[in-house]
Amino acid sequence: MAEKQNLIAGYETVIGIEVHVQLTTRSKVFCSCPNVISHDQNSTICPICCGHPGVLPVLNKEVVNRAIMVGLATNCTINEHNFFARKHYFYPDLPKAYQITQSSEPICKNGFLEIPLEDGTFKKIRINRIHIEEDAGKNLHSSLTNESYVDLNRAGTPLLEIVTEPDISSPYEARTYLKMLRTIITYLDVGTANMEEGAFRADTNISIRKPDMPLGTKCELKNINSFKFISDAIEYEVARQIGLVENGQKIIQETRLWDIKNHKTITMRTKEEAADYRYLPDPDLPPLAIDQDWIATIRKTLPELPRDRYQRYLSQGLSAYEADIIVSDKDLAHYFDQVQKFTKSPLVINWVLRELMAFVKEEKVTFNTCLITPQLLAELVTLLENKIINNRAAQEVFEIVAQTGQSPEQVVKDKGLEQIGSPEEIEKIIQEIIAANPENVAHYKSGTKPKLWGFFVGQAMQKTKGKADPQVINDLLKKYLS
Ligand SMILES: [Zn+2]
Repeated sequence: MAEKQNLIAGYETVIGIEVHVQLTTRSKVFCSCPNVISHDQNSTICPICCGHPGVLPVLNKEVVNRAIMVGLATNCTINEHNFFARKHYFYPDLPKAYQITQSSEPICKNGFLEIPLEDGTFKKIRINRIHIEEDAGKNLHSSLTNESYVDLNRAGTPLLEIVTEPDISSPYEARTYLKMLRTIITYLDVGTANMEEGAFRADTNISIRKPDMPLGTKCELKNINSFKFISDAIEYEVARQIGLVENGQKIIQETRLWDIKNHKTITMRTKEEAADYRYLPDPDLPPLAIDQDWIATIRKTLPELPRDRYQRYLSQGLSAYEADIIVSDKDLAHYFDQVQKFTKSPLVINWVLRELMAFVKEEKVTFNTCLITPQLLAELVTLLENKIINNRAAQEVFEIVAQTGQSPEQVVKDKGLEQIGSPEEIEKIIQEIIAANPENVAHYKSGTKPKLWGFFVGQAMQKTKGKADPQVINDLLKKYLS
């Protein structure tokens, strides 16, 4: 079956993505050092994560649990026979001169995520593998003293590397895949997935080719810490590669960086040959067997995943657009679900998407800590739905409750914001307005001054002090003016 193709100037874009996810286990992957971010250099280290000779690494079981969780959430097969390998290279932040990782037998294989495309269909992005590895330390360079330092706090931090097949064919797909993967990590609560702190790092391999031709030479984009920059960088890189080929030039296999200021990719380093890391089985770590019971136990702990939650919201009557926004933020989704415990009003979604989201963004608070709790928002929406207050009053109540955490009912009482009256009461007021303005009524009815509608609405709002149900006012005005 022919795949739908996104061709640019006759070329197809081929993208594969490797993501490194930092896990937030309490201790590091092969020692008992605390797995925390410490700015006190070399304070969370021991002989094992520093790679002293003769020490023995011991695998942290919680890292395995979390790897299985991510594997199951991304439809992978969990490998029952795991091995650890040494990947050899020298760098000052890696004192033992090899990184412990997995090579031929990663813990998870052959998974996939289905990402939503702009046209509403879904595309399967295959995941080749997920493996466990340790992070290296960090080199710090001081321009003040012109010296370099090594901080090993990060050495031995547990990582999962998640590698796709080259199934991604546009910047949009790349961004959508990454967002979905990141949301899954936050739902599983296995890592912070904070991109700015490097807890979710994506390396993107990009090449171009004419349809049905062999893969072109790829370039790798490294260390880009925002979804927007990644898609901008891919867009630039595709155009650059097409330009080179069209001009008869060669694409050089290299690692490139995104220059935010100048909005282009630049060479970081050129790879002459694929590095030979001399992978060897690590003799210090025994094979890791994972049986079906272990996998079944982990499966039971999986929370509702974004895709299922999305479907649930659709079945509850949310639009695809609304469901997508709610699902993409775990805390927001939790907030929304909490509100639903108190009211199932269809008005809730608007208040959450408009007022609440704007408030949280503006005031830089979180959904978990904002003073307008799910229960208070539910109370507010109920007052509105029962027509105790109108929309305008509800806005005012929202502002006060969000700032103070007071009960909406109390605010309505204190401020006298209840809607006035029965439709009969409002009808009396409308009759008075009609009687007091015979000329305007005549003009409006003759059709010469349709703008007078606003005049009557204004009068009605004024006479009811803005506390009447606008719908009732509208209906009554229509009745008397047509
Ligand atoms: Zn350690």
